[in-house]
Amino acid sequence: MRVANLAGRAVVLVDGGAIDLAEAGGGRFPSDPQALYECWDELRGWVPEGVAVPYEDADFGAPAPAPRQVFAIGVNYRDHAEESRIDVSGRPARPPVFTKFVTCLTGQDATVALPKDGLTDWEAELVVVIGRPARRVTAAAAWDHVAGLTVGQDLSERLTQLAPPQPQQFSLGKSYPGFGPMGPFLVTPDEFADPDDLEIGCDLNGERMQAARTKEMIFSVPELVEALSAITPLLPGDVIFTGTPAGIGGTRTPPRFLAPGDRLESFVEGVGALRTTFVEG
Ligand code: ZN
Repeated sequence: MRVANLAGRAVVLVDGGAIDLAEAGGGRFPSDPQALYECWDELRGWVPEGVAVPYEDADFGAPAPAPRQVFAIGVNYRDHAEESRIDVSGRPARPPVFTKFVTCLTGQDATVALPKDGLTDWEAELVVVIGRPARRVTAAAAWDHVAGLTVGQDLSERLTQLAPPQPQQFSLGKSYPGFGPMGPFLVTPDEFADPDDLEIGCDLNGERMQAARTKEMIFSVPELVEALSAITPLLPGDVIFTGTPAGIGGTRTPPRFLAPGDRLESFVEGVGALRTTFVEG
């Protein structure tokens, strides 16, 4: 199933268009895309029926626009750890975790203002949305707690992120308005032949910058759900940015950062492409 936030309303996408869930569900489903995750189990068993209307994918907002918690994972691909000169030889006991504050979330075709005097970088990421309360969930049971997958960008202003005295501003530097684009829509895990092995990457102005497979993640999606839920209960509609592979701008020679006019297209196999445009801040 493909579920989207179409101009602020929860819809299911079918051949030929979008079905409005509040209208087609006979009162079972809310129109609010975030509230929909509270009745995800009911949606799972529902066979889409109703009037499908054509849509423009530029109207897609974030599939989870107002989660209660947003988790983001650092250095979750070995090649990205290497380019960042971070030692992950021997598996870390726990993944590095930070947040992206929820006001940074946005959807398809977002126009994002680049902070003045900043160095803003791209990070294509697989994004997970939680579909069931998860507390001390094992990796083996983790996929049952996932509503679906989408494409995300963990946009990062590196000067704020890495500001002294200690690089503790991870969350702030990654949370300027528009710095958390996600979408275009959510795809349920059953739609993928193997949800643990998906091509992922991004193109900047048509040039391939990142290309990897999600099976290269140090902590897989099920292992992330296990590690996070061991400490913090995960709630329906919560979002996890799962980390980026190699190919960011800051570790290139010379470094390359986003500039006004740049167009970034991020992709995940089986989901599609998320487009973001940058303007002067
Ligand atoms: Zn990231």
